[in-house]
Amino acid sequence: MKVDTRGAEWTSYRMDDDGNWVQMTDEEVRQAYLRGEKEREEAKKKKGHYCDENPIPYEFWEDGEYYHGMECSICGDLIHTG
Ligand SMILES: [Zn+2]
Repeated sequence: MKVDTRGAEWTSYRMDDDGNWVQMTDEEVRQAYLRGEKEREEAKKKKGHYCDENPIPYEFWEDGEYYHGMECSICGDLIHTG
């Protein structure tokens, strides 16, 4: 499930199977929040930090292609590509 991270309503909408934004029910919002918390806790337990909380931008050219995105400033894991 993808969660819209734009603005303050990021927990209120999700994309359905057809690619439309639909409003999440209270229960869906709660489940999404709990999933995020669990993921964060597990990452912190395993690595000592949560990569998404330590993003730094990266960019480079390779074979004429431009790559950019965000990576973890602590362990270097890819957070997302642009
Ligand atoms: Zn990391």
